Amino acid sequence: MGNLAPKDVAVSPEEKFKEFLATRGKRLTQERGIVVRAIFSDHEHFDAEEIIARLDKPSDGNRVSRATIYRAITDLEEAGLIRRVAHINDREVYEHDYGYPQHDHFICDKCNKLIEFRNDEISDILDRVAMEMGFRLSGHRLEASGICSECAKPPTRRHNKLDMI
Ligand SMILES: [Zn+2]
Ligand SMILES: [Zn+2]
Repeated sequence: MGNLAPKDVAVSPEEKFKEFLATRGKRLTQERGIVVRAIFSDHEHFDAEEIIARLDKPSDGNRVSRATIYRAITDLEEAGLIRRVAHINDREVYEHDYGYPQHDHFICDKCNKLIEFRNDEISDILDRVAMEMGFRLSGHRLEASGICSECAKPPTRRHNKLDMI
């Protein structure tokens, strides 16, 4: 989960996106603005369908088409504001890249939970290996799979929902 503290940024994601779109000759339309705000309103990992569900509130008068949401997500990724973390249950899962610290993930094979962690030793090792190879690191992503502590627990109750699957 998005359990790390966001970084302070001088320029808002919306403003950053606007700058990026301008380089492509595009405008930050009202709809695109709504999508960016919906995405950056919380630091959880997300997929397009979740954003669609989050914006599917006709009472707000904020209807944004699915196509616009999908396109905005692609643009946000190109702009470097978000990045793809994993492909889970046939969906691309994204997270904030802008304003969020470098981190790695454990992915649970059973419940698909994404667990974030930071480990300076991993970064140090990568720095060292990169230096040895004359490679200039700009960042890294590490995803390790396994079983999370919740799923590793022996079932305690007979009628536990997970037991019935
Ligand atoms: Zn799990
Ligand atoms: Zn993450």
